[in-house]
Amino acid sequence: MHTPSSSGGHPLNQTDVLIVGSGCSGLYTALNLPRHLKITLITKAGLTENDSYLAQGGICMLRDDSDFDAYFADTLRAGHGENDRSSVTIMIRDSKSIIEDLVGYGVTFARNADGSFCFTREGAHSQNRILFHEDITGREITSHLLTAVQALPNVTLMPHTTLLDIVEDDGTCAGGILLGANGKLSAVAARHTVLACGGIGGLYPHSTNFHHLTGDALAIALHHHVALKNIDYVQIHPTTLYTPNPEERSFLISESVRGEGALLYDKNGRRFVDELLPRDKLTQAIHAQMRKDQTPFVWEDLRPIPARERHAHFPNIIAHCAEHGYDVDRECIPVVPAQHYFMGGVAVNYESATSMPQLYAVGETACNGVHGRNRLASNSLLESLVFARRAARDISVRTEAAPSLHPFNAIDWDHYADSRRLEENNHEQVKLAINRVHARCIA
Ligand SMILES: Cc1cc2nc3c(=O)[nH]c(=O)nc-3n(C[C@H](O)[C@H](O)[C@H](O)COP(=O)(O)OP(=O)(O)OC[C@H]3O[C@@H](n4cnc5c(N)ncnc54)[C@H](O)[C@@H]3O)c2cc1C
Repeated sequence: MHTPSSSGGHPLNQTDVLIVGSGCSGLYTALNLPRHLKITLITKAGLTENDSYLAQGGICMLRDDSDFDAYFADTLRAGHGENDRSSVTIMIRDSKSIIEDLVGYGVTFARNADGSFCFTREGAHSQNRILFHEDITGREITSHLLTAVQALPNVTLMPHTTLLDIVEDDGTCAGGILLGANGKLSAVAARHTVLACGGIGGLYPHSTNFHHLTGDALAIALHHHVALKNIDYVQIHPTTLYTPNPEERSFLISESVRGEGALLYDKNGRRFVDELLPRDKLTQAIHAQMRKDQTPFVWEDLRPIPARERHAHFPNIIAHCAEHGYDVDRECIPVVPAQHYFMGGVAVNYESATSMPQLYAVGETACNGVHGRNRLASNSLLESLVFARRAARDISVRTEAAPSLHPFNAIDWDHYADSRRLEENNHEQVKLAINRVHARCIA
């Protein structure tokens, strides 16, 4: 895999598929590629440091055909009708086989006494159709996918390795420029590159996301004129635990807590809103109430959820609140909205291919239009997995048709010498681009 380079003394490696990101979308892409392909999977931080591990509430599934219309309508209603209807149909139709696959990898979901799946509900869902594993569904799913990838001999995992740029050759993606764990630069020639870089929360002072998720794929796409879509569609989650410490990552109080009965109160302990409104509308209502009450948070009361259910379903949220001094059995907790999810991203087709040949984007980094203007709760893990599998299948077909690596032109290594500055510039570029589109849309 390693061949010496004549280019500035920096190593030049070769791989069939370069996957950027070790969240559920990157891992599932790897698992669905043929075993004879060499795969290099890099991640900016540790292998488990990604938002997929943080997902609490669950993952949607079409329970049976009778729920299709309602599930479709709920997704569109949450997305303000701006969803790509074909993407939504693909996601819903594929949900069952994705869940079967996850169970095959050893993922367990809550079940009823008779062994059938136990479904919960979150805001803007008209039916219970969300599978969960306590309040750590993302960890349950992603840790099993990681274990399966680690067992694959054709996959090389490279933690603490950052994609600084892609190598563009004649309008085609030919690989990437990497900053390794040792601080050294290298290049990797790849027949296909998959951006699975997650969201943009690291660009915001208050976000539920890991700080290192800074929209790097967007910056790269901007530089190379790869099409972007809906980049001003940023979701703010209505309920994160309030903390006066701005350095802390905002801790999510999952929507399923409200789905199971938790209530929101103003400063006088009075309800002021329907807790199951779609996220954007509930966020607006909470912000309005905070302004009216002149408080930095509103109160959430978990006690309406029966005690046994509360502790069985949400043990980690309860433990986290306790660590911060709140006993949810006896008192309300302060909650405040924070940046949570990015509905826009690198524009992709139904096979997750971008506008640049040999470049794919999956998961939160990509925008196939499934979420429209606002994501319905628990559609994100599912969408990531459905469209990662489609990317892998498309790559499999195309790799058979084009078996050789694209040649590299000379790389301007000086451009990457000050990688910290380059990354800071990238963050600014992405923020500017998002604000520009936002300003255009509200003008
Ligand atoms: C607190 C929280 C709770 C959530 N709860 C739910 C839920 O209940 N249900 C649901 O459906 N969704 C939920 N979501 C959303 C969901 O978790 C994410 O949208 C989904 O996991 C995204 O997966 P991903 O693979 O696209 O990205 P991630 O899992 O975030 O992975 C991104 C990866 O890209 C890597 N990376 C980024 N930039 C670079 C670079 N330049 N070079 C190399 N590597 C890079 C990162 O290191 C990371 O490995 C939640 C999100 C959060 C934050």
